[in-house]
Amino acid sequence: MRVAFLGLGAIGAPMARHLARAPFELAVWNRTAAKAEAFVRDNPAARMASSPADAARGAAVVITCLPTSHEVEALLGGPDGLIAGLGRGAAFADCTSGDPATSRRIAARLAEHGVSFVDAPVSGGVIGAEQGKLTVMVGGGAADLERVRPALDAFAGKIVHCGEVGAGDALKAMNNALLAIHVWTTAEALVVLEKAGVKAAVALDVINASSGRSNTSMNLFPERVLTRAFPRTFRLALLDKDIAIAADVAREQRVPAPVMQLTAELMRMAHQQLGEEADHVEAAQILEAWGGRQIGVDRVPAAPHESTDAELRAEQTLEQPL
Ligand code: NDP
Repeated sequence: MRVAFLGLGAIGAPMARHLARAPFELAVWNRTAAKAEAFVRDNPAARMASSPADAARGAAVVITCLPTSHEVEALLGGPDGLIAGLGRGAAFADCTSGDPATSRRIAARLAEHGVSFVDAPVSGGVIGAEQGKLTVMVGGGAADLERVRPALDAFAGKIVHCGEVGAGDALKAMNNALLAIHVWTTAEALVVLEKAGVKAAVALDVINASSGRSNTSMNLFPERVLTRAFPRTFRLALLDKDIAIAADVAREQRVPAPVMQLTAELMRMAHQQLGEEADHVEAAQILEAWGGRQIGVDRVPAAPHESTDAELRAEQTLEQPL
């Protein structure tokens, strides 16, 4: 099966690696060509495409994994765009954590060219991608899912058909809204407890054996905050984008979702303050600065943390089901 993969970012590259072997024939394209060059050096069975159109030419399945649906939409048109290369009968799966409205627009535009579309955002983080155990949440027609399933299977542990086009995006956004809320409120609880005289390690030990626990309290805070490692695996900018999508979906559905709307504002503020490269868990440092206490450390916080190279490498050892 000929597959094109576009977007060799933090999670895209380890996903694409599973397709760089038989029975697949893989073509890759990345905006920054150096990343695609490095990919084909490490995966010689893959071909480096010169443009999105070149990647799509002859492909039975095209997969994209870009920051937002807008970057995917922007790759469709023009002489070098995906549509110029896609043949009628090809199938498209967008693994971006996208937004439902743009996905529906992309699906309609591709349908005019005889190309099927599913939104297929993933969960499981960089580690899940490396291990080929991602959960893929798919929006689109059942037959359209079947056409891309063999390619998705290469990096998935679980594939769930969620509904029509946009359903995967909506579910992914809500999942990540819950993640953002957990990161923010776990930081709130721990800064308060530290100031009230309860050490964060003791607090997490109890919470993780009690009803307030979450993946954030069980994995993210012990591995990243208590250790002060703050590895950069999933950018806060992307979590900000995800919860903003969730808040939009709630508004579209006319459901008052005050905690989600407020946390979306807080994530936007944290993103603005900490910058494009900060990891999502670094949002806890905003609470530490407000409370005047670092979680798990007996001192007043320094300025928001900048990860060192050693800490970036430490990410490889961490579990991160995002
Ligand atoms: P990164 O920021 O690491 O990578 C983004 C990728 O998109 C890069 O290949 C980048 O190219 C490319 N890109 C950015 N802007 C454009 C553009 N205008 N045109 C073409 N290509 C562009 O993101 P991730 O890999 O972390 O995330 C990708 C998607 O997966 C996001 O939607 C994210 O929310 C989702 N996701 C990420 C997870 C994670 O753990 N990282 C977990 C689950 C979902 P270039 O190299 O040139 O910058």
